[in-house]
Amino acid sequence: MASGAEIVGRDSDSFEMKVSIPSDEDGFFGRQCPSCRQIFRIDGNDYDALPDEVVLWCVYCGHHDEHSEFMTQQQLDRALRAAGDLGVQLIGQALDQAFSGFRSSRRSEFGIEISYRTEPFYPEPLPGIDEEKLIRIRSCERCSLRYAVFGEHRFCPVCGHLPALVVALDALAAETARLDGVAQLPAQTAAMLREQGVFTRLWVDTLKNLVGVVEALGTAVFRDTVPDADQRLRGKGNIFQRLDHTADLFVDAGYPDLRTVVDPARWQRLIEFWAARHVFTHNDGLVDEKYLTKVPASTMRIGQRLTTTEQLCRQAIADTEVLCRAVAGLTAP
Ligand SMILES: [Zn+2]
Ligand SMILES: [Zn+2]
Repeated sequence: MASGAEIVGRDSDSFEMKVSIPSDEDGFFGRQCPSCRQIFRIDGNDYDALPDEVVLWCVYCGHHDEHSEFMTQQQLDRALRAAGDLGVQLIGQALDQAFSGFRSSRRSEFGIEISYRTEPFYPEPLPGIDEEKLIRIRSCERCSLRYAVFGEHRFCPVCGHLPALVVALDALAAETARLDGVAQLPAQTAAMLREQGVFTRLWVDTLKNLVGVVEALGTAVFRDTVPDADQRLRGKGNIFQRLDHTADLFVDAGYPDLRTVVDPARWQRLIEFWAARHVFTHNDGLVDEKYLTKVPASTMRIGQRLTTTEQLCRQAIADTEVLCRAVAGLTAP
């Protein structure tokens, strides 16, 4: 067999073969989800330490299955090549045996002539693994498994659903990374995009995403910690999109008031960001009476269109992070 493949067991007519999977220079190797087909990577040592019967989770879609189902295409190709090598040799051996009785071929009066010669088998090296390199190593705060992802993810490969605060902080980090990324664009490209309103769109999207992050976190925390959450949420709609209602909901359930936990000045800024997002989402950014009620200090008039800036977005992200930590830190009464 080629190096990296060995036969570890034989049972009458079946073989058990072991094919090594080389890890990358960081000591990580790939796993590919059988459901969404996306790849993630796991630290080889951490993986070896797991029990044999471990069930793995896809970090992206949450499909969970036996770990052997998570072979990457390249790992599968390598294993199939090793299996093919074994097959060629088994056929060779079978032919050797079949022809051992009449190795010197004879010409008969009728029929066909068969000649057969044994050839030694020299396996080609198994195909190597050359998958996308990891960008950064993440460590699960619950099971401490080290892994790497290539896109937004929601699950630890071993313990499944990530804590809601981890998901929220990841999403906020992505918003900051997006602002940082466009800040690095070449001047000419940036000018062209700015003229088309791409930056404005991006800042508005950031505000919308922040509301979504807090909504998901608030929902998860409330459902996790309040025993009669279902009853309290019945008929309340998207209550976690509305900051004051969210704060009231927690207060009614006996938790501290978020308005004071994050300090009143920050709370007022958050109220204004949320009001701006509402106007952008539902009124094309045109100021209405409801907005002016939420933002009494505004000098805008009804019908004027809101503008926003990168600096405001960064402030909104920072304030939202404080809010997220406060929501996750609310402890049961
Ligand atoms: Zn998946
Ligand atoms: Zn974990």
